[in-house]
Formats: sequence, structure tokens, C-alpha cells
Amino acid sequence: MSNPLLVAVAEMLRRPGSHRELSIEVDVEGLATFDAAVHGPVCLRLHLESALGGVEVTGSLSAGWRGSCRRCLAPIEQSVQEDLREVFSSAPSGDEVYPIKGGEADLTPMVRDCLVLALPIAPLCSEDCAGPAPDAYPMNPLAPPAEDRPKDPRWAALDALRTGQ
Ligand SMILES: [Zn+2]
Repeated sequence: MSNPLLVAVAEMLRRPGSHRELSIEVDVEGLATFDAAVHGPVCLRLHLESALGGVEVTGSLSAGWRGSCRRCLAPIEQSVQEDLREVFSSAPSGDEVYPIKGGEADLTPMVRDCLVLALPIAPLCSEDCAGPAPDAYPMNPLAPPAEDRPKDPRWAALDALRTGQ
């Protein structure tokens, strides 16, 4: 199967000012930051336009991710959407430009760079997540410490038997 992120642009480069729309859905294997991992397909809606010696790529990227709440470790599943504006060139100079090799623009590094920036650094299950603070927020607020627990009246009879009353 051909790589959908490998886009033939030789024809476009021959005709500066030509453009092309691309809609790509692709699985990006194993892309994760410390707190979140891409989950499911990455969707790209792109507009390519050629200039002299290069192609400008604009559009958007969306992807789902999974992670854990930084405070309470609850699993989180959310998605991100990012705008893209990048330049691919057959004579790239500097880090800001992606290369065109053999008439093909490989969108993979652009997608990875974008996702790494888009994934949350410290995801929270909700903005006001209280986190694991056992004193203020017991893991099970319905279970107070044993000594404070009111006696279930159903045990009263058993207690009576135990104490021989
Ligand atoms: Zn949380």
C-alpha cells in the first residue's frame, strides 16, 4: 500500500501557481508525548499551491488522543485540531522548510511536528480536577474513617449477641 503522506508534486512544481486539494486520513503509529498518545486516524484537509521551487501547504489537522489526567490519573480521550501553514521546497534552507525529494513531498515530518506541539503537555480530566488529595477529597467520600462510621442498625442485634446482652 502506498504511503498517503507521500505526495507527488513534480507536476505542480512545473506549473507555479497550480493548486490541489488533499484530504488524507492516515494512521500515525506510536506518536506520543509523555502524557498523551495519538489514538485513531489523523485527518488532514490540505490546500497545496506551488510557487517557484516549492509548494505551500495550508489547511488543518485533526486527531484523537488518549492520556491520563495529570492530577487524578483518570483516563482521558479527546481530540485536537490545528491549523497548518508550511512550505516544502526542492532546495530547503533552514529548519522552517520541509524538503521535496525526487518530486515528492513527504508530509510525515510535518504531521509529526504538528502533533507533538498539539498534544497536551499536562492534560486534565477537567479544568477544576481536584486531584488525589485524600484529606480534602477522600477516594470514596461515602466511606468515612471507621471510628466515625455510624453503626448500621442491622448490626445492633449482632453486637448484642457478641457482648452477651
Ligand atoms: Zn482529573
